[in-house]
Amino acid sequence: MDYSATTPVKKEVLDAMIPYFTENFGNPSSLYSIGLKSKAAITEAREKLAHLIGADPAEVFFTGSGSEADNWTLFGISDKLKAKGNHIITTKVEHHAILHSCEFLQKHGVDVTYVGVEKDGTVDLKELENAITDKTILISVMMINNEVGTIMPIKEIAEIAHKHGVLLHTDAVQALGNTPINVKEMGIDLMSMSAHKIYGPKGVGALYIRKGVNPSNYIHGGAQENKRRASTENLAGIVGFGVAAELAEKNLENHIKTCSELRDYFISQVEEKIPNVYINGNRTRRHPGNASITFEYIEGESILLLLDSVGVSVSTGSACSSASLTPSHVLTAMGIPVERIHGTVRFTVGDFTTKEDIDYVVENLVKIIARLREISSVNEKEGWK
Ligand SMILES: *Cc1c(COP(=O)(O)O)cnc(C)c1O
Repeated sequence: MDYSATTPVKKEVLDAMIPYFTENFGNPSSLYSIGLKSKAAITEAREKLAHLIGADPAEVFFTGSGSEADNWTLFGISDKLKAKGNHIITTKVEHHAILHSCEFLQKHGVDVTYVGVEKDGTVDLKELENAITDKTILISVMMINNEVGTIMPIKEIAEIAHKHGVLLHTDAVQALGNTPINVKEMGIDLMSMSAHKIYGPKGVGALYIRKGVNPSNYIHGGAQENKRRASTENLAGIVGFGVAAELAEKNLENHIKTCSELRDYFISQVEEKIPNVYINGNRTRRHPGNASITFEYIEGESILLLLDSVGVSVSTGSACSSASLTPSHVLTAMGIPVERIHGTVRFTVGDFTTKEDIDYVVENLVKIIARLREISSVNEKEGWK
């Protein structure tokens, strides 16, 4: 129940990858035949990923991760456009790959505005537009929020950005394969992606860079990725990303339908069987697999641990801050009171989740919540102590 943290590699993906570890191991930069074969495999993967997002293959650059694509964008654009300005606009609910990179840039002379969100996690468009100055060079807003699943109005944000001559980047790591994406129709200038969230391998990502946009390089060295991202390619990983993208395109409609039906079934069961719960995020403009649920009067961490003991994996707040007790920055920005944030759990379903799995989770969750509330030092009558 944690597909937004990562996904298993699909069998078709793994099967396509294996030969590129062994017999087809050539360096794609080598000029002899096994090198050329590797180069051709990368070209094919690039075409598949480009097709999924409506881009030209020459606009897709493989990276080492979604985080790297985010870093490249922020560092590369702020360097490239420093003569024009030093102001970046992003939101309070971005992934840490954006937020922590922005904090780093702030120490190096870049001004960053963090725009707030509505109660459902949607970026406040008025506040966003009002934040634009003549020094603004980039707006970065994620396509789908990883904690609460809210889908952001990227096309409208692109229109606002372009009206003011500003570039738009979107972190689409959670969106890829979970909602239709067409970079041209949506007006996206740069877009981050990652393979391991779409049934591909970990450690490979990509950045879409619209033709004519030229962020400075971030990884320096050899001439790979059309001289824009050095380092010997993660050949098998890229091949796997290509196949995962192809499958995501083929299955998109069915994936969205199946996941959202399972997710809605899960939510309705929880609402029916467990009192004092709140569903966070937008109920309709939402990631098909995401259910972010607050259970009043108890700690999400306790729920996580007890679910783990019956073989169910979930996360609290954001996966990255699960080890700490700082309340989630996303739920905080949405105005959710801190005691409710502590009782929030993120469940995400995916292609291998079944109705039986959901029934098993609900059955255990009902018992776990009842038990935790019984021993909790807080309850409905007394409130939080
Ligand atoms: C997972 C995730 C990332 C990071 O991608 P990696 O490939 O794991 O580095 C970035 N942004 C969002 C929204 C994510 O969900």
